[in-house]
Amino acid sequence: MKARPGRRVVEARAVRFGNLRDAGPLDVLITGAGISGAAIYQELARSGYRVGIVDRGDFASGTSQASGMLIWGGLLYLRNLDFATVVALCRSRQRLLEKNPEDASVVDLHFSTGHLGVFGKAFMWSALQLYWGLGGCHLAKPRFCDGEAGPSLVYQEGMLRESDSRFVLGRIAGRTSADCVSVNHCELVSASRDAAAACWRVGLKDRITGDEHVIRAKVLVNAAGVWADDVDRIAGLVSPCKHVFSKGVYLMFPRNGERAARVHPMVGRQDVLTHVPWGPVMMWGPTETPIRDLEEGFAPSRDDVEFLLAQARSSLRGRVGKEDVVSMRSGVRPLAVPRNFEKEVYPLDLSRKHRVVVHAGQHAVSVFGGKFTSGSAAAGQVASAVGRWVEPRHAATEWVGREVGIPRNEGGCGDGFVTPEHARDSEFCATLEDYLRRRTQIAQWTPRMGLGRAGENRSQLLEMAAAFADDEAGAIKMTDEYEETVRRIHDSVLEAGG
Ligand SMILES: Cc1cc2nc3c(=O)[nH]c(=O)nc-3n(C[C@H](O)[C@H](O)[C@H](O)COP(=O)(O)OP(=O)(O)OC[C@H]3O[C@@H](n4cnc5c(N)ncnc54)[C@H](O)[C@@H]3O)c2cc1C
Repeated sequence: MKARPGRRVVEARAVRFGNLRDAGPLDVLITGAGISGAAIYQELARSGYRVGIVDRGDFASGTSQASGMLIWGGLLYLRNLDFATVVALCRSRQRLLEKNPEDASVVDLHFSTGHLGVFGKAFMWSALQLYWGLGGCHLAKPRFCDGEAGPSLVYQEGMLRESDSRFVLGRIAGRTSADCVSVNHCELVSASRDAAAACWRVGLKDRITGDEHVIRAKVLVNAAGVWADDVDRIAGLVSPCKHVFSKGVYLMFPRNGERAARVHPMVGRQDVLTHVPWGPVMMWGPTETPIRDLEEGFAPSRDDVEFLLAQARSSLRGRVGKEDVVSMRSGVRPLAVPRNFEKEVYPLDLSRKHRVVVHAGQHAVSVFGGKFTSGSAAAGQVASAVGRWVEPRHAATEWVGREVGIPRNEGGCGDGFVTPEHARDSEFCATLEDYLRRRTQIAQWTPRMGLGRAGENRSQLLEMAAAFADDEAGAIKMTDEYEETVRRIHDSVLEAGG
């Protein structure tokens, strides 16, 4: 049997399930707590609705934990002449940078031009000027630069300061009360509209205790990312679009003092790879692979790693091998296409635009496609659909904002990160894996997902696990299970192991 979180976690969850279930119908229930669901939750909570959000895994445990963390205007979509999407993404980027200065900042990106001739450079320069103009000329004007890593064109984008998972959590954890309820590890398993009572009856499964609950909500929002088609099916909703899936993988290499974020052409394809500093590592990627089976999308394969290493050997200085990889991240992009779309195309040729489908007769909304950057634009559209059906209960208020004075660990591989106890009590953290992968960057910044190259951090991980278990036996079981996961998804691909 799987290690079950301790009494404190289970009791806190029971209170939140009670709030979802027992205090009359919610105004809105959101399924899926990636960036789309979290931004919608923030918008509706701020607007005065009684709102709930559930995720069958941890918050941000889907695609939103695997992004490049760039808040960008979609330079690459210029190649499809998709100006409308670029303008919309640039606007979202600007809004996000202005409204969340503590979460995101401007970053210089160096687009390598060493491989380009005179015409190629002139073309890139013109494309970047156009991009800058479409972005409202808010950021610095693109310019040529001849730095130590060779000639480049420098332009600007936004980047998250901490991580994508913590950004998502910040939209959720900033607001909790009997009227704003968020529950992770809680799966929507059934949903039907009771027309007479004018509300949805929704079956939720607690994936920690196995208990099932039925709750009511006036409006249902499907923000399940790449799983939106499944949630539509469960709820009997029919949308005019569906998702095509594109897998993206990054490798993390040691940073070795590098400071510049770089964009390199992908060898053999009309695409690019980025090499971006993030804490003590450099993120290298992403891949862009069409897939059909979602299960294969959330774990990097040996082929993904070989491809990225081969590209790194062509573009980055110094030799890089499997032994240099600190960690990997893998996710699936939800690309919205019309329901009857059947073509085989390179995913970059598909639009990244989000679609908000309003099911007016059923008081439901489904969100398809989109980017991290466009989360709040989609949220605004969902909120205006909700406003047609339900009146807010309270006057709109300002968002409470990020928590200050978070207690942090001192020393060891968790140095500087939120303590496990605080993550458990204030950030809904239920397991060691939630803590290492999403509440902190330990699993991404420390080799072998935090365990250390030779397993030298196991005793530290065991101490962290103690916060989520009732006793030593529970903590050992949780750590053993985590170690097994590391063997399965990290060691087997990189042929590593302690
Ligand atoms: C490699 C890669 C790099 C990227 N880089 C960038 C970037 O730099 N900038 C950018 O703007 N965008 C980027 N993106 C795109 C961006 O990450 C995604 O568009 C975004 O994260 C999608 O968020 P989402 O909330 O729609 O989906 P998700 O984050 O997948 O959230 C959906 C959630 O729904 C939950 N769920 C599913 N079914 C159920 C159910 N039945 N009950 C309860 N919960 C359920 C899942 O557990 C999941 O957590 C990147 C994507 C990839 C893959």
